[in-house]
Amino acid sequence: MALMLRRNLLSGLVTVGALPALPRPQRQSLETASGPVLERPLTGQPHKGKVLLALEAHSDDIALEASGTVAKLIEEGYTGYLVRATNDDMGDAPGLGTAGTIGENVLGNERDNAHIADLLGCKGHFDLNYSNHRMADVSLNELICRLIFLVRLVKADTVVCWDPWAHDEENPDHYTLARAVEAACWMAGRAHDYPEHFAAGLQPKTVQDKYYFARRPEITRVVDISSQIDKKVEVNRANVAKGPGGHLGSRLRTELAKRHQRLPLLGDDDATADRNYIKEFVMASSRELGRQYGVEYAEAFHYIAPGASGADRDPRVDTYVKEHAVPL
Ligand SMILES: [Zn+2]
Repeated sequence: MALMLRRNLLSGLVTVGALPALPRPQRQSLETASGPVLERPLTGQPHKGKVLLALEAHSDDIALEASGTVAKLIEEGYTGYLVRATNDDMGDAPGLGTAGTIGENVLGNERDNAHIADLLGCKGHFDLNYSNHRMADVSLNELICRLIFLVRLVKADTVVCWDPWAHDEENPDHYTLARAVEAACWMAGRAHDYPEHFAAGLQPKTVQDKYYFARRPEITRVVDISSQIDKKVEVNRANVAKGPGGHLGSRLRTELAKRHQRLPLLGDDDATADRNYIKEFVMASSRELGRQYGVEYAEAFHYIAPGASGADRDPRVDTYVKEHAVPL
């Protein structure tokens, strides 16, 4: 059965499913009830003046899971920052990334991640330098405090991160960071948490909305990244020390040549081999997701809309006041 797509002309969003689209995303429960929202490309820079904090445990997290969306939001006006929680010292699984010592892993990933931040168009990046696979030992309150500082420092409006509520997650770095981000987004806006920040010149800042990704996501929002797919390929090509992209294509091309074979897919030079390998194999899940939603490439999120937190002021109050307030 063909998916029903309804475009919201004001927001560029499309609701997938049989129920009518909401005027704009408000309460999470309403967005979920109407089916996943398809976020289309927006023209111009409607997000100008807003700040995006993209947070990852490892140098390949954002690259693989959300780099198309981060690139899209920055292109649409966000000022972006990339935060990497670990130093990636454990490298990657055998056969992936670049083989090396623990120290070589640290340096390689540090360089790759800085390159990735540049490719995404980020204004800056931060490395928190926790040990890879060891974040379960990290004091949750220390991590929350560091993230509150960063939210207040860059005045973050929106975050992209692992989902703290997701299933099937094996990596302790992912869920430890995600839990801390969830708390920091809320606490950063409080008036009495870490008041020394205010003495240093910072102000309370509540994060408004969140794009959470996961291995088995509760999908409430699908982002069309068809226009950003080449940038996503380049970001994953830059992820040389870690991950399933990097130089695996040219490595396969070299291995085949030793056996007097070649794959037309991998072209005639190493850069083409790397790009085409990533687009064919590493981007397969983005392509499959896009096919399901009627676009070329997509990324999936558990999206938390502005006002979804029970502690925040419901944005409908302001709408109601605007419509109903009368002179005294
Ligand atoms: Zn990871």
